[in-house]
Amino acid sequence: MNETKPVVVIVGAGFGGLEAAKRLKHVPVGVKLLDRNNYHLFQPLLYQVATAGLTPTEIAYPVRAIFRKQQNFTFYLAEVTGLDTAARRLQTTIGRVDYDYLILAPGSESSFFGLDSIEAHAISLKNLDDAIAIRNHLLRMFELAAHESDPEARQALRTFVVVGGGPTGVECAGALSELIRLVLVKDYPDLDFSDVRVLLLEMKDRLLNGFPADLAASAVDTLEQKHVEVHLKAAVADFDGRQATLQDGSTILTRTVIWAAGVQAGSLLVKSGLKAARQGRLVVEPRLQVPGHPEIFVIGDAAYLEDGGQPLPQMAPVAIQQGRLAAANIEKMLHGEPPESFIYRDPGSLATIGRNAAVARVKGVHFKGFLAWLVWLSVHLFWLIGFRNRLLVMINWAGDYLFYERAVRVITMNTDPRGRPSPDS
Ligand SMILES: Cc1cc2nc3c(=O)[nH]c(=O)nc-3n(C[C@H](O)[C@H](O)[C@H](O)COP(=O)(O)OP(=O)(O)OC[C@H]3O[C@@H](n4cnc5c(N)ncnc54)[C@H](O)[C@@H]3O)c2cc1C
Repeated sequence: MNETKPVVVIVGAGFGGLEAAKRLKHVPVGVKLLDRNNYHLFQPLLYQVATAGLTPTEIAYPVRAIFRKQQNFTFYLAEVTGLDTAARRLQTTIGRVDYDYLILAPGSESSFFGLDSIEAHAISLKNLDDAIAIRNHLLRMFELAAHESDPEARQALRTFVVVGGGPTGVECAGALSELIRLVLVKDYPDLDFSDVRVLLLEMKDRLLNGFPADLAASAVDTLEQKHVEVHLKAAVADFDGRQATLQDGSTILTRTVIWAAGVQAGSLLVKSGLKAARQGRLVVEPRLQVPGHPEIFVIGDAAYLEDGGQPLPQMAPVAIQQGRLAAANIEKMLHGEPPESFIYRDPGSLATIGRNAAVARVKGVHFKGFLAWLVWLSVHLFWLIGFRNRLLVMINWAGDYLFYERAVRVITMNTDPRGRPSPDS
């Protein structure tokens, strides 16, 4: 890389950071992309890793492979720990990195809303390690249940609580119920599956906030047909690893709480000293720049920008479109042209609820059922990074669909959801 060229440093190889780096391919700059992982993660399919449908490598793709042919690109495997805006410098686990332009795209992390017991005992679904931990944990619960003679303890092992009625919670609950009732039922012929419970808890009075009301209602019907118990206005207040307590005082004996209830900014943004809004997202101007720092852009989940009085959703299309614009604006600034404002082009919303079922809103049209499911399938395959992954995922999905299987029913670690040795292993 020619170091006399301006250096654009990008933090995060997620949807936003990746798109920005690609868009800078033919711009006369040096692009340095930093991430704590050496792969790009396709988060929308994390729930399928968690429910044994896909392997981790089918939804994660090495960053270096993606940029193999980009001459002006360098990758750094590093955790970014601090930002010195005056010196235009980042502190990282591999030393300091200077920038002329900075694109911050570190995404978000799970938020437990200050509920310490839930943070300690629940499993969130935000990264690859979480998804693998959930898969191991779910399969382990059935192994333990198979040999548990105490009926109450057995019931707790076979009760699965998913918290959060957004797309992640809905997709996870649907896939979990299908894993249990279509696949695991064949693996445990001696286990009674009639009282296995999958509960989806949502604190608001509806699921899928952000989707039209008719689709949200349809999602409830479909989930219930798939034996998921949907509880609205149900907020979890405490979970000690054996029992979940709701805000109304009621209790659920369970060993499993999967947390898909909210996200917040990571510690890098919190420590940056830059102006933050709701969930710790950094406030940006319409051109995606930080107020007072035209050389710093923030994009994706980490950025707070309103559209029609509402914050832009924390979704992949927002991050991708913002990544593209941040890179284009840097190019404009290099040419002495004014940067452009961000205009979000909403491609619609999709959520799948298992086999043959999904809800979709595309260009104002609402549809559900098999057609929506086909749209969901094609969109996710189209967006999956890397041809190899697309093909593997397609083969896996076809196998699961035809034979009611889940390819990845293996327990790979004797650890609890937090990565500590499992007390039951
Ligand atoms: C389970 C799940 C399902 C989802 N489903 C959908 C869906 O169906 N449709 C949809 O549109 N959106 C979905 N989303 C949301 C979507 O994934 C995010 O909005 C999107 O990933 C945000 O992109 P981003 O570039 O801002 O951040 P991310 O894609 O999260 O990438 C951030 C990157 O930054 C890296 N990073 C973070 N901090 C540091 C640091 N300090 N140092 C170094 N590297 C760092 C991370 O390792 C990561 O690679 C889902 C999210 C989850 C968790």
